[in-house]
Amino acid sequence: DSSSAPAKSEAEGDGKSTEDDDKDDRAAQSLLNKLIRNNLVNTTNQVEVLQKDPSSPLYSVKSFEELRLKPQLLQGVYGMGFNRPSKIQETALPMMLAEPPQNLIAQSQSGTGKTAAFVLAMLSHVDPNNKYPQCLCVSPTYELALQTGKVIEQMGKYYPEVKLVYAIRGNKLQRGMKLQEQIVIGTPGTMLDWCSKFKFIDPKKVKVFVLDEADVMIATQGHQDQSIRIQRMLPKNCQMLLFSATFEESVWNFAQRIVPDPNIIKLKREEETLDTIKQYYVLCNCKEEKFKALCNIYGAITIAQAMIFCHTRKTAGWLAGELSREGHQVALLSGEMQVEQRAAVIERFRDGKEKVLVTTNVCARGIDVEQVSVVINFDLPIDKDGSPDNETYLHRIGRTGRFGKRGLAINMVDSKMSMNILNRIQTHFNKKIEKLDTDDLDEIE
Ligand code: ADP
Repeated sequence: DSSSAPAKSEAEGDGKSTEDDDKDDRAAQSLLNKLIRNNLVNTTNQVEVLQKDPSSPLYSVKSFEELRLKPQLLQGVYGMGFNRPSKIQETALPMMLAEPPQNLIAQSQSGTGKTAAFVLAMLSHVDPNNKYPQCLCVSPTYELALQTGKVIEQMGKYYPEVKLVYAIRGNKLQRGMKLQEQIVIGTPGTMLDWCSKFKFIDPKKVKVFVLDEADVMIATQGHQDQSIRIQRMLPKNCQMLLFSATFEESVWNFAQRIVPDPNIIKLKREEETLDTIKQYYVLCNCKEEKFKALCNIYGAITIAQAMIFCHTRKTAGWLAGELSREGHQVALLSGEMQVEQRAAVIERFRDGKEKVLVTTNVCARGIDVEQVSVVINFDLPIDKDGSPDNETYLHRIGRTGRFGKRGLAINMVDSKMSMNILNRIQTHFNKKIEKLDTDDLDEIE
């Protein structure tokens, strides 16, 4: 069965590199993002569109009215507080709602409105008078399926004739029964069983097939094959929709197997830059000295909100403990925590209840806390070979051009090796990282 809980991330507190468990962490990260996200990611980038038939006109809408939605659905959309379609929705929605339906592969980072878009498409395409499944949506985990289900319920609030059922492990149905719900959402294993082994669903009657979080999906053993087996049971004219936050080669290959003759929509992330960031380093001899240096600059950094990154859970836990002992109020975000706990910590930090958040890289990946203007690399970011991880460095401290607020980054260096890493980072970005004397802080204040 495939409806496993999101994998726990990071080494089990043994000081092992946090990067090793990166792969297992994708589902948890994705769920975390959904739990903490309450609005759209801002973007000034344009969507890239590749049409199946390049000669057909490309429609894009600036309002939900233009889509001629059922009134109950328009009410649902406005009820969620949406005023106008997001960047990706402007093009994706007319494509998905066109007659005859068109297939779509769409890629954009989390928070750009993909889920809301395909939920609206599913709700638009079902006929509530027909009491059988017409839309199938597969998600990588049980928890992610539940999140999407919540969006269906919210958007379909004024359209109660449409019913939803979860194809997830633990949802045991009587043998021989036929589902009456129009929308089925679940994990690939259970969905496949319901279509083939148990025949609760007649796949030949399905009009829309959605595969969400394709990048997370293929990271899980077995999901790819199960998804393809479901897809093969569907009629030729079934609309296939696939969504992904990232688009590496493997995702693309999978997408093409699931979605024949696709339209393709891509939305690039905003570029991050170090241009508005003051970068410093502090020279120390050991972990304890780094801690002392941190205490010296503590007053200066907590004028704003600060995030402190450590390489391992163990260091992060130790550092948070030491800072607390000094009487500082800090939050700790660690891989041992349940995703819901992590979401709560991030929300408190966002609300300014804590000024300092200590974390590991894996935990904080993809989390944008816009008001953070100070980043401390208690450990420099390195990849599993021990080379500088420039991408992570940029992502930790970089700012998107749009929110180009000034920021401050302080790197703690405690060995020849880390000095070498720092130098390589400096060379890579071709931006000077200045030495900071923590006994003389005029500079940063
Ligand atoms: P994704 O699936 O790409 O991660 P979501 O569909 O979950 O993105 O949308 C991200 C957040 O933005 C959610 O909180 C969602 O309710 C909200 N949202 C989606 N579309 C709109 C819109 N058109 N206007 C305002 N908010 C939106």
